[in-house]
Amino acid sequence: MHEPYTKKEISAVIQRLHNSYKNTEEGSLAKYIPELGKANPNSFCISITTIDGETSFVGDDATMFTMQSISKPLIFGLALETHGLDHVRSRVDVEPTGEPFDSIIRLDNESKKPFNPLVNTGAIAMTNLIKGSGKTSRQEILEKTMENYVGRKIKVDEAVYESEKITGHRNRAIAHLMLHFGMVEPAIDEMLDLYFRQCSFNVNAKDLSVIGATLANNGVNPTTKTRAIKDQYIKNILALMFTCGLYTYAGEWAFDVGIPAKSGVSGGIMAVVPGRMGIGIYSPLVDKHGNSVRGVRVCGDLSRELNLHSFARGSKF
Ligand code: GLN
Repeated sequence: MHEPYTKKEISAVIQRLHNSYKNTEEGSLAKYIPELGKANPNSFCISITTIDGETSFVGDDATMFTMQSISKPLIFGLALETHGLDHVRSRVDVEPTGEPFDSIIRLDNESKKPFNPLVNTGAIAMTNLIKGSGKTSRQEILEKTMENYVGRKIKVDEAVYESEKITGHRNRAIAHLMLHFGMVEPAIDEMLDLYFRQCSFNVNAKDLSVIGATLANNGVNPTTKTRAIKDQYIKNILALMFTCGLYTYAGEWAFDVGIPAKSGVSGGIMAVVPGRMGIGIYSPLVDKHGNSVRGVRVCGDLSRELNLHSFARGSKF
């Protein structure tokens, strides 16, 4: 489908929404990873990239922040490409948890599998499936995967990475519990190291919109024309983002905003409108669920104004 709104119309809408919400001060900085508490609470950027590769943005695109959980659907995709759906499904379920992302107990009682790849248990199990090949290390594969989505070289924020490593005791507990149940390979330290790295890649809001546009464009980055993920797995990734992408707000989000998305505790939201666009928002003040307050509001308004809800039928079509 051709994007029904022009770049000018899209720019005008995001400019207006940026003005409406730039003084919203609800929410607080995530502090459980101490380094995240140093973010500038006023930083705010909205970016949209359409599947023809055009980006419109407003606000602070210079501030870099770490991807955090926004890395999770991408690493789920990498696991699918490497091992195929059956093997991946033998390691993880696809059910929403209704529990916080770092919940320790939510392994399925019978199967001992994590509930889904977008909470920490499932995400760590997916990171465990990254395989180095020949001389290419697992770290390089991780980096390359992210770069294909973002369309440029990206770097780990070493301070956030160290901060996660020093304080990541819950994630260590999760890894040990899964090892106990035989759900992961024994090299736990290496696996956690990789997981902390994937959470610590630095991006800006424009990058998030390009990642979203890549998923919206059947896996091909529309700015570089590089394929980041095979098209056959897009539906698996987007279905999970639709049902599990916004922590314990996922149901409300699906109901109100109605598009696949993933948030991160550093204040980013990456959303996908299949066949149309990717949306990237950054504002680090997060609510009790761990979602960017301004980000959730902007996406709700965007969904109504640009008719983005997956199940809405609008006059522009
Ligand atoms: N690195 C964070 C953690 O594992 C990711 C959290 C997130 O964005 N929900 O605790």
